[in-house]
Amino acid sequence: RRPARPHRDLVHPRSTVRYSHKHNPNIRVMQWNILAQALGEGKDGFLRCPLEALSWPVRKYLILEEILTHLPDILCLQEVDHYYDTFQPILASLGYRGSFLAKPCSPCLDVDQNNGPDGCALFSRRSRFTVLRTSGLRLSAMMLPTNQVAIVQTLACRVTGRRLCVAVTHLKARSGWERLRSAQGAHLLQSLRAITSRGHGPNQDPEGTIPLVVCGDFNAEPSEDVYRRFSSSPLGLNSAYKLLSSDGQVEPDYTTWKIRPSGESRGTLDYIWYSHDALSVERLLDLPTEEQIGPDRLPSYHYPSDHLSLLCDISFREEPHRLM
Ligand code: NDP
Ligand code: CA
Repeated sequence: RRPARPHRDLVHPRSTVRYSHKHNPNIRVMQWNILAQALGEGKDGFLRCPLEALSWPVRKYLILEEILTHLPDILCLQEVDHYYDTFQPILASLGYRGSFLAKPCSPCLDVDQNNGPDGCALFSRRSRFTVLRTSGLRLSAMMLPTNQVAIVQTLACRVTGRRLCVAVTHLKARSGWERLRSAQGAHLLQSLRAITSRGHGPNQDPEGTIPLVVCGDFNAEPSEDVYRRFSSSPLGLNSAYKLLSSDGQVEPDYTTWKIRPSGESRGTLDYIWYSHDALSVERLLDLPTEEQIGPDRLPSYHYPSDHLSLLCDISFREEPHRLM
């Protein structure tokens, strides 16, 4: 019998002002690159992961277990190649509404017996949100279409009446493509600016802008240009997982850690960005330690993807007039 999966604590960032209360409950957001089944078995070469742990019948329950342990209100996934046969029907039966956008030319399609293209998926709980608008974006770079996509959705919170814009993306992988990632990020930011500044319907937000959460596998370390673009954009975004560090200024050491035939690779590539003027991060799911991850790294029987899930509870900051 295998030992239980290591527990991850939900921690309060230092110096959190709590804005959540009965009429302003937290919104739980999960970001996760779940590892496409076709890529994990057919392309990645995770030679230290037992084959059984890489099989879909095992992995699908481990992925669902992790999602259902935390029951996020908003769930952003990348590398989904089992949307129609697994995640959409199962999560729909549990009260979620889903959207999926496949990559135009998914590398999964090169793998024998693949289950279709991989792409991004965005789920939200029906009891918490209604959907006002959904946009599927094919990201471009210097005006040229690329193989990467994003879903952007404007939601209305049924409890507070506030709007929230959520985006999910998976930028181009591998070193050597830093400029392409940066251009893809610029296109996404430009689209988000247009979508969040547009006024819709009766619920006007302060200054007409809609608070934003952007989740993704950016395939970029914090030193990259695309990270700098996001952290310095006029949208006023902060990266939630920096708040795990003691001074709130440093990203975690890793969000992915794997051993391929080419060697070991550890990096911080996944992010949850949020509008820091409108939203507050109240809790974050701590990351497993090196010992918990273990010497064979990811994926494993405990962690079904080579990327770790990120999860935080956010709340709307009170509008200034309500604080007076
Ligand atoms: P990316 O470079 O963005 O990578 C695609 C996937 O490969 C990502 O999910 C990435 O995972 C994973 N990956 C990254 N590094 C490695 C590695 N060292 N070994 C194995 N997998 C890795 O690819 P694109 O979307 O730009 O697509 C390029 C690929 O698309 C080509 O390699 C080709 O196979 C395929 N293609 C298919 C066509 C078709 O008709 N089917 C046509 C054209 C291209 P992560 O994000 O977790 O790092
Ligand atoms: Ca991958």
